Amino acid sequence: MYLLDTNKVADQSRRMSLRFPLAAAICAVVLPTTLQAETPFRFETTPGKLPKDAVPKSYDIHITPNIEKLTFTGSETVDVDLRKAAKTITLNANALTISSAKVVDGRGKTAQPARVAMKVADQTVTLRFGTELARGTHRIALSFAGKINEAGEGLHFANYSEKGTGAEKTMLGTQMEPTDARRLFPCWDEPVFRAKFRLTVTVPASFMAVSNTPVESEKVVGGKKEVRFAETPLMASYLVVLCAGELDAIYGEAEGVRIGVITTKGKAEQGRYALESAEKILKYYNDYFGEKFPLPKLDLIALPSGFGGAMENWGGITFFESILLYDPAKSSEQTKENVFAVLAHEMAHQWFGDLVTMAWWDNLWLNEGFASWMGTKCTDHFNPQWHIWLRANAAKQRAMTTDALSATHPIQQPVRTESEANSAFDEITYQKGQSFLRMLESYLGEEDFRRGIGNYIQAHKYSNTTTADLWNALGESSKKPVSAIAASWTEQPGLPLVTVKSADGRMLAQQELFAVHQENPKPSEWRIPLSYRDIASANATNASVFLLDAKSAALPEVRSDQSVKLNADGIGYYRVQYEPALFARLLAAAAQLSEADKVNLISDTWALVRADRSTIGDYFALVNAVRADHGLALAEQINTTISYIDALCRKAPERPEFQSYARSLLAPAFAQLGWVAKKDEDVATGLLRVELISKLGDLCDEKIVDGARERFAKFIADPKSLAPDLRPPVLDVVGRYADLKTWETLHQLGQQTKSIEEKVNIYRAMAGALAPELANKTLPLALSNEVPSTLTRELVLTVAREGEQPELAWEFSKTHRKEFDAKLSEMGRARFAPSIMKNFNDAARAAELEAYMRENYPAEATSEVNKAAEEIRAKADLKDRILPQMTQWIREQTLVRHD
Ligand SMILES: [Zn+2]
Repeated sequence: MYLLDTNKVADQSRRMSLRFPLAAAICAVVLPTTLQAETPFRFETTPGKLPKDAVPKSYDIHITPNIEKLTFTGSETVDVDLRKAAKTITLNANALTISSAKVVDGRGKTAQPARVAMKVADQTVTLRFGTELARGTHRIALSFAGKINEAGEGLHFANYSEKGTGAEKTMLGTQMEPTDARRLFPCWDEPVFRAKFRLTVTVPASFMAVSNTPVESEKVVGGKKEVRFAETPLMASYLVVLCAGELDAIYGEAEGVRIGVITTKGKAEQGRYALESAEKILKYYNDYFGEKFPLPKLDLIALPSGFGGAMENWGGITFFESILLYDPAKSSEQTKENVFAVLAHEMAHQWFGDLVTMAWWDNLWLNEGFASWMGTKCTDHFNPQWHIWLRANAAKQRAMTTDALSATHPIQQPVRTESEANSAFDEITYQKGQSFLRMLESYLGEEDFRRGIGNYIQAHKYSNTTTADLWNALGESSKKPVSAIAASWTEQPGLPLVTVKSADGRMLAQQELFAVHQENPKPSEWRIPLSYRDIASANATNASVFLLDAKSAALPEVRSDQSVKLNADGIGYYRVQYEPALFARLLAAAAQLSEADKVNLISDTWALVRADRSTIGDYFALVNAVRADHGLALAEQINTTISYIDALCRKAPERPEFQSYARSLLAPAFAQLGWVAKKDEDVATGLLRVELISKLGDLCDEKIVDGARERFAKFIADPKSLAPDLRPPVLDVVGRYADLKTWETLHQLGQQTKSIEEKVNIYRAMAGALAPELANKTLPLALSNEVPSTLTRELVLTVAREGEQPELAWEFSKTHRKEFDAKLSEMGRARFAPSIMKNFNDAARAAELEAYMRENYPAEATSEVNKAAEEIRAKADLKDRILPQMTQWIREQTLVRHD
């Protein structure tokens, strides 16, 4: 699954985020070998809530939606293997009513359950029989009914106005992961219960229906269309998909697989870019995994609402429309990049997740960390112009920031409930997972790593695994102790800090937990593939690597007077702090470092400021030393920190002085680029221009604000006058400083457009308005029907963050709690209040959030609340510490310049 707020595609904080124990070491030098607790996959020992003595083999399901009433009826037969005689059979069902149930045994004898007991809290239904059912195969037959919801859980609807006709239409879609297949049909809804699924759906005659497999037959019954799909291979229930509506499609082909892009009417041609990309990606993955895509077709389905990300349903991937469709005349380069990156992520899952599936949600990272890593690798392979790995640093920094708090969790974590499964989808699972795999691939070597993955897929296809199975495969292919290295990264929380200092003529590297705002951090150790390079040497491109598997060690073959940069190209998932003399040498040579090393050094130095291990002066001295680079990833990294400090200054007297200083850092780069793209300009330069316009606009740069307003006025008169790449930043800047009239103009544009991508850009710009009276006009739109329900949460968050009105957003969300609850999924509800509150930086708000969530959402939200509360408290401390430092440093700079 791809969650836009977890994976923030375009990593610009001004963007609407449509876009996650070690038992206390008794002796600090003992390495955490005890962490290797997990065993390879076995069905019987896999965690879960359902008993394992009834095992489903195949489902035959018939669903009939009633679109007027937003309800559905269904019936199913399930062939189940009873592994021992039993009087009860328990499976999952949620928000369903069951109207009939019976069981037929292998000899054709029918048994009626004496009781059908629904347990709402457990989301289960138990069929209780008067006499014991024999061991062996039985066919269960159930009839049931449920509701079609708006929140994107199970079968949901998406209302939209049709391109061309403007008619109001409804499309149906499903979102099952992690635990919502049970809202559409009673099932064994845990990933270890793989089964074959055969779906039939009865829809209006004008509808087209799509599922995991090709249509096997279609017939008209009573004026309606009955569509029967072919049976799936053995797969997990969370991968079932069913979409239907008045749809268009375009088709292509790659390596014998039919690839389709399916959209609402009139939009299919905008799927051309995704279709062509998917053809390339499919071939790339066929080669990489050494196993052909196993289904006859792969559909990419654009949903106009209902769900804000993308989901890897086998053979039928669903996307929120704005991250699948690309209109060359209107869409930006950033959209193109997002489309490719999300597609590459979801298609990687078709093998890693769908063909081979994690056994239980405690190993969710196997799916998500891997798909994130593989998707980025594939995107980079086809699109080196985007510098995607370097720019993935921004997402990695978010994971490392969370991971430095005590509220973090290990990559692999126990999951007991549906709520815990929901909260596992976070930056640790995705981004730490991806970063660790990248570090591991770099250490094992690309070819050994690939061979290990190929062997793993072969050994476990159509089955389930644990992390231990992956380490075993990689250990065999590389002949390196992968399990022992990996355990310290996946089974304990947090990340290491490596400190470097000279001693006795050598350079000593020492490791400890990197903690921010923690009172008594637990001592922890890692086996760190530590890379380093001598920046003064002629072949500074070559890095050395050694495994730091003790508390401290001397860097091999390095003298204390050398200038070494650790974590070459920033591939490792650890922080580095240099002793002052060494940092000074690095600072002096910083301009000569590679962009990747600059990005890494800048990121670490800022993290050290947050951890109270370095000063804001050190940070900005480094920024000054490298900023002439004009690299896109470097600019994004610096700008993220500038935004962060700017947000800390909200309502503080220091803000104008800081903004003026920050403008002086960014303006020279923009002066070189200007508003208009040069002929044959490279893609990264275009993206840098967008980045600088957004950021300078945020910092009240008058020329940028005037320039944006001028272009917006022309755009209104003639939309073609504004290059697609410039539309998002121009809208953002104009929206930020909007008056009522401008806001209303934007509103009109937002209501008129049929493009979801444009809607997202325009409503985001409106929500970013700084004027409180405009925030009060935007907030009710979040609950209206004029925006896709996907934007419900995002609009409020944008008012809080970009619009700088967390007080208004918070009050509004509390006043309308019940309405938001009805529109949001459980995952959305659990994250809503914490996401708003993270925009505050006073500690009292942390306590307020904790109390509010305890009162209103006791079971759902613990992990998100803990993280948010700790983040707020850490920010409050940081603000008190660094704002005075910052003012002093800026004044010193001004004095130096005047001297
Ligand atoms: Zn995913």
